[in-house]
Amino acid sequence: MTKHVVSVSGGKDSTATLLIALDRCPPGSVVPIFCDTGNEHQAVHDYLAYLEQALDIQIHRLKADFTEQVMAKRRFIARDVRIGRDDKGRKVRWTNKAKRRALAVMHPSGNPFLDLCMIKTRFPSSAAQFCTGELKRDPAVEFQLALVDAGYRVISWQGIRRDESINRRKKRKFERIGPRMRAFRPIIDWSAEQVFAFAKAKGIEPNPLYRAGMGRVGCMPCINCSKADLRQIAVRFPDHIERIAEWEGIVSACSKRGSSTFFPPGTDAHAAQDVREVFAALGIRNRVEWSKTTRGGKQFDLLQVLDEPSTCSSVYGLCE
Ligand code: SF4
Repeated sequence: MTKHVVSVSGGKDSTATLLIALDRCPPGSVVPIFCDTGNEHQAVHDYLAYLEQALDIQIHRLKADFTEQVMAKRRFIARDVRIGRDDKGRKVRWTNKAKRRALAVMHPSGNPFLDLCMIKTRFPSSAAQFCTGELKRDPAVEFQLALVDAGYRVISWQGIRRDESINRRKKRKFERIGPRMRAFRPIIDWSAEQVFAFAKAKGIEPNPLYRAGMGRVGCMPCINCSKADLRQIAVRFPDHIERIAEWEGIVSACSKRGSSTFFPPGTDAHAAQDVREVFAALGIRNRVEWSKTTRGGKQFDLLQVLDEPSTCSSVYGLCE
């Protein structure tokens, strides 16, 4: 027997994919899943509830739990006396002061995104996109492997489109991803307009976050968000900016160097050595101020990474 597992993100593409699966597959064989990162807007959760009610389905919520890893990291920091290197190859030692600072804040929060960043002592970036892997891919794979172990064949339905990014341009419509597991990407050649029109024809409303000016729906903010998205988030949902600013303080305290920012530094910013200087230049509040500016200027060089939105390149296509 086959189970059709549809990864639902609350965005337009995965919603259209879910609607196709419900149309084509035998009743009871469609299994929608949602991977909760702990960094989504409440509107995403509300939209899932709307889909469940409108389509008479149940969406399985999957949420990673890093409680044990946070506790293990605390033990490691308490014992560690080695001189290590940071991500730029510079020698950094866990000083007693840094240990006290980290151990004071590093406690399991129950929020997967924050707990993961505390363990890694940094935020993810497009070059080190561990958020997709550990918050979405791993729980989704674990869920699907359990179905395989229970004797099912699994088709993993993914709502990705080639015109979203270079990463996705060469994705195939069908792909073998493991024993008794296949990927199927039914809207791979669709345009965004087709996706919206399809859902509308089915009587399904889009996630209200699109009407609020968001270009993509998922984490708020996503580490890959565009300058325009960041500006919209700051204007419409400033509480999410404040939450990230608070997380920057916690993750910074967890790191050896004492600083970590949600968006990675650009090349010029590597020169910033002083912790206060890093925060002044690169913290989320400063990035928001930059997002309100026009292109160019000194700041643009520091922050250009934000102006080139990219998408998740995971085989599972889990982030919009
Ligand atoms: S890539 Fe963006 S949407 Fe995906 S898990 Fe990371 S922050 Fe969230």
